[in-house]
Amino acid sequence: MCAVGETYIRAIQRVGGTPVVLPPTTMEADWEVLVARLDGLLFSGGGDIDPQLYGEESEPWMGQVDAERDFAELGLMRQWLATERPLLAICRGHQVLNVALGGTLYQDITAHIPNALDHAYVATQPMETIAHSVTLTLESRLAAILGGTTFDVNSAHHQAVKTPGDRLVVTGHAPDGVIEAVEIPGHPFCISVQWHPEAMVKASPTMWPLFEAFVQASGG
Ligand code: MN
Repeated sequence: MCAVGETYIRAIQRVGGTPVVLPPTTMEADWEVLVARLDGLLFSGGGDIDPQLYGEESEPWMGQVDAERDFAELGLMRQWLATERPLLAICRGHQVLNVALGGTLYQDITAHIPNALDHAYVATQPMETIAHSVTLTLESRLAAILGGTTFDVNSAHHQAVKTPGDRLVVTGHAPDGVIEAVEIPGHPFCISVQWHPEAMVKASPTMWPLFEAFVQASGG
């Protein structure tokens, strides 16, 4: 639902990192060059991933897909994962990580999860508006970074992780059971969240440690 918004750039700058914005249609020939030069990679929010990329037919509630962006991000993601360098995945990025590792998605939360909370973005409210809580596993890297296991977060997604991909461990849920965070255990820094921490940093310091840890892990 968004291009690389200013909030991602500001969140990285706030903690002393130097943001470099990549085009959403990164060319295959550039993946290797980028992977060799970047210190950390943040995969940002956006629209739905083509369900064919996780082995499903498109359902009526699917949003618009962008084949070029899917191809660019999945390719870059797979090359980046092979480096074991710092990765922070947010919203669509969280779903791209899952699909890159062979996981699947619910094409629409309300269509598939009975009694689910409302996870969709409310256009009349600011992006930092709290939508629901998340409970993190005590042993997760994210809980250690944020210094707790329960946090109020925003929410701007209609899809969610269904089957986690290879290597991914689920580390956070919403109260309705929707998966909100995953990570790769043992990886130097691979954290993935369904909410938008970058949109929360201006209104509250809660998510600052996530960006601090990411930039620090990236050598910044
Ligand atoms: Mn949510």
